[in-house]
Amino acid sequence: MKLIIANWKAYITDSKKATDLVGAVSKTKIKKSAEVVICPPFIYLSFVVSCSAFAKASADKQSSVKLGVQDVFWEESGAYTGEITTAMLGKFGVKYAIVGHSERRNRLGETDEMINKKLKHVLESGLTAILCVGEREREDRKAVPEIVAEQVRADLAGVPPPFIKKLVVAYEPIWAIGTGVADTPDDALSAALYIRKTVADIYGAKIASALRVLYGGSVNAQNAPSFINQEGLDGLLIGRSSTDKKEFLEILKNI
Ligand code: PEP
Repeated sequence: MKLIIANWKAYITDSKKATDLVGAVSKTKIKKSAEVVICPPFIYLSFVVSCSAFAKASADKQSSVKLGVQDVFWEESGAYTGEITTAMLGKFGVKYAIVGHSERRNRLGETDEMINKKLKHVLESGLTAILCVGEREREDRKAVPEIVAEQVRADLAGVPPPFIKKLVVAYEPIWAIGTGVADTPDDALSAALYIRKTVADIYGAKIASALRVLYGGSVNAQNAPSFINQEGLDGLLIGRSSTDKKEFLEILKNI
């Protein structure tokens, strides 16, 4: 099953565009072998769930369109000004949460310690976590195994083995995010293998073999097939191109 995560970030600033886009994705025929997860800004969750095409698609148990969030706090409730918690998400039918996106790590100062707390909380609350890891510079290529292994080890510290079946890891080289310069499918695959090996070193080969590892970074309609057809990659995390209706539907069509 290939997993396609649409991370709208803060690109969409109009609820009409949000409902239009989610409506178009919900009406698109998606292959049985794929699942699409829309991660809108929190403020659009209610618009997305009340979009009739999305509601119809989600009422179908076999539906391939699911809802995710771009971030979530590590406590359930309390004096945490501005935070959104997992307890608030239940009624929207949210199934996935992105944790540790590089834009939050680098621009908002999220540390591995914070990411570890978020990850544990997300997994404990029954959501599937999409943990993002990746190196900063393209020149860091040789150091990728160590960089991603270090992030994975720190972010997963103390996460009990049964929770790993609810974990997805997205390999997202930071230099490729939003730059228009994607990684090569071969290098993305190598990084995915290092990630899987690191998880195998901690949790054993059986658990690691079931882990889903995605690629993200300047994926578009043109390059998506070369990543999606890599056998060792389980899907894509797509930012900008997931907010362009024509481009995203083209990506879905070619899975
Ligand atoms: C992302 O949001 O993680 C991402 C990969 O963005 P983009 O596709 O725009 O590079």
